[in-house]
Amino acid sequence: MKVFDGHNDALLRIYLDPTPSAFDAFLAGGSNAHIDLPKARAGGLAGGLFAIFPPSPMNGDMFDRMSAAGYDLALPEPLAHPFGADCTIAMTSILMRLEAASAGGLTICRSVAEIEAAMARDSLAAVLHIEGAEAIDPDLRMLDVLFAAGLRSIGMVWSRHNHFAHGVPMRFPSSPDTGAGLLEPGRRLVARCNELGILLDLSHLNERGFWEVAELSDAPLVATHSNVHRLCTVSRNLTDAQLDAVARSRGVVGLNFATAFLREDGRMDADTPLDTMRRHLDAMLERLGEDGVALGSDFDGATIPNAIGSAEGLPGLLHHLASAGYGDALLEKIAHRNWLSVLGRTWKS
Ligand SMILES: [Zn+2]
Repeated sequence: MKVFDGHNDALLRIYLDPTPSAFDAFLAGGSNAHIDLPKARAGGLAGGLFAIFPPSPMNGDMFDRMSAAGYDLALPEPLAHPFGADCTIAMTSILMRLEAASAGGLTICRSVAEIEAAMARDSLAAVLHIEGAEAIDPDLRMLDVLFAAGLRSIGMVWSRHNHFAHGVPMRFPSSPDTGAGLLEPGRRLVARCNELGILLDLSHLNERGFWEVAELSDAPLVATHSNVHRLCTVSRNLTDAQLDAVARSRGVVGLNFATAFLREDGRMDADTPLDTMRRHLDAMLERLGEDGVALGSDFDGATIPNAIGSAEGLPGLLHHLASAGYGDALLEKIAHRNWLSVLGRTWKS
């Protein structure tokens, strides 16, 4: 069964390893990454949102700190706009060069028809997504340029504050209600994304920001990689009220495989059973219905369960869900249909 996935950090991984080897290994395999083309083919990963995340210096030891029993990570300093723009252009270029070097193995997709066509010919369907819009100036000029380059999805913050919004810090246990939400340019960004038909990803906004987008946006509400707060009380997960709002808007939530957002004890620990993921999906189905639940792996951006290991482990997850009683039609919706359908309701091409 083919999987379209809501979030991966493969571009950041390649950007941070500027030797040719990380780029080449994405195409040819042989690295210990979660995603490369051979692993994607072997695991049925047919496409997904490829995040561009301008990193902060703190990101190095973040996972160590999140493996503790309870943590409260200070938000990193805001990034300067030129650095955000540099990183974003560099990672966009990496994706374009991967497409060019892949001999048809990867296609950058700008419409649902392009995704469907790429999936049908077994070319990995990559959608450009920004996680942290520091590249975009408050006047949104860069938004026009990036949209023309193929950008179709934006998370206006990666947790750290910028001129669009305040994000949610990494904290366990914690409510997602951690302070002020959108700033004025963020409100304009919502309106402009609605006009252009760019998906707005709510995953790293705090609760105030979430409700402000819910109020302002006329598009379905989407959290590309977030889980159920009732089951794992980390600041990054969604409350039942938030899940209900996503459902009312005919939006989608992608199940995040990051173990720190799955486990009841909130720890980043790869020794996490698949059934913990099933419990989140059950709870999401209860609030969102069968059309609102999808996958958002966080491959190459988090510690995921050993039972999955990499994109090659996706069939194991689907098999586990099938043995727990998930029927084929539901599995197909979770695996890719719901993503394609919500992108179709959001995009204008
Ligand atoms: Zn993220």
